[in-house]
Amino acid sequence: MSRVYNFSAGPSMLPEEVLKTAAEQMLDYNGSGMSVMEMSHRSKVFEEIIQTAEADLRELLNIPDNYKVLFLQGGASSVFAMIPLNLMTKNKKADYVITGQWSKKAFSEAQKYGNARKVASSEDKVFNYIPDLDKSMFDPEADYVHITGNNTIYGTRYTTLPDTGDVPLVADLSSCILSEPIDVTKYGMIYFGAQKNVGPAGVTIVVIREDLLGEPMDITPTMFNLSIHAKNDSLYNTPPCYAIYVCGLVFKHLKKLGGLEKMKEINERKAKVLYDFLDQSKMFHGTVVPKDRSLMNVPFVTDSEELNAKFIKEAAAAGFVNLKGHRTVGGMRASIYNAMPEEGVKALVAFMKKFEEENR
Ligand SMILES: *Cc1c(COP(=O)(O)O)cnc(C)c1O
Repeated sequence: MSRVYNFSAGPSMLPEEVLKTAAEQMLDYNGSGMSVMEMSHRSKVFEEIIQTAEADLRELLNIPDNYKVLFLQGGASSVFAMIPLNLMTKNKKADYVITGQWSKKAFSEAQKYGNARKVASSEDKVFNYIPDLDKSMFDPEADYVHITGNNTIYGTRYTTLPDTGDVPLVADLSSCILSEPIDVTKYGMIYFGAQKNVGPAGVTIVVIREDLLGEPMDITPTMFNLSIHAKNDSLYNTPPCYAIYVCGLVFKHLKKLGGLEKMKEINERKAKVLYDFLDQSKMFHGTVVPKDRSLMNVPFVTDSEELNAKFIKEAAAAGFVNLKGHRTVGGMRASIYNAMPEEGVKALVAFMKKFEEENR
């Protein structure tokens, strides 16, 4: 068996320890005589799996008691609709900051259900920065302000959160959650699909302050009604049981590693190896303004399409896979989520150095 260094933007690498545990427990979970895939979501044994996963996530993110944790399906893309349906209900207005394809999609979903306003955008420079945001730019009457915390495609992230006053901040943290500590109390709601930094595709996690769980719009499909999921502790219908179980293994793994402070330290060190190389290279260049650089997704280019293609091909042959950039940016993108080992990034940089020397 040989495993490659997988720089996929998502689904992406999982910790090897987690995959091994899942493999060991595949046929018989904890003496139950069955796989987690085969058990009732209403059984005692699964109840313990989902409750432990929630407790561990709460511990890792330091989630206060007045926030609900929901394990849902449909990806972050479904949450784009859940947000207006559930939250755009008082003044029927919401503010959106547009920093990439995902915030655009969240915004256009909200426009279907109410008065969604674009507050600022970085589209003028192919989303290579985070716009400056001042409190005066936000409507104090908005039901919420939406941001995308880390922009998976463009490789930018918020290093400070906007001051929205009393208006709840809602954030898509799909590609940065668990990469460093966050202050959950600064948000009304955060959400993330699992497949970037948490676990397998199929489960989407919403963390929402209880007072925001009101009456959604009448047209809200039951499965998009966050209050119903909250009342039923994520068991209104069959949840994505196996995906939740693997997320639980990842939470345990992170706790063992030393929690999110430790994870942040590792991620900063890892990203620095790559950014330091890009900053001195004569062939490869980062595409993002340095102050807004993501710790998780690192897009870069050479000055030639041919060279980009040659690099991607030779890198794949050498065991560095999924480095092709998103079609809207071109070039390359290395996604270096939690589970990418430091050796993987160091090995990639060594390969890039060698490629630069050989193709000068
Ligand atoms: C991947 C991603 C999404 C889309 O997630 P799905 O689970 O495919 O719906 C949304 N937002 C961000 C920031 C992402 O990285």
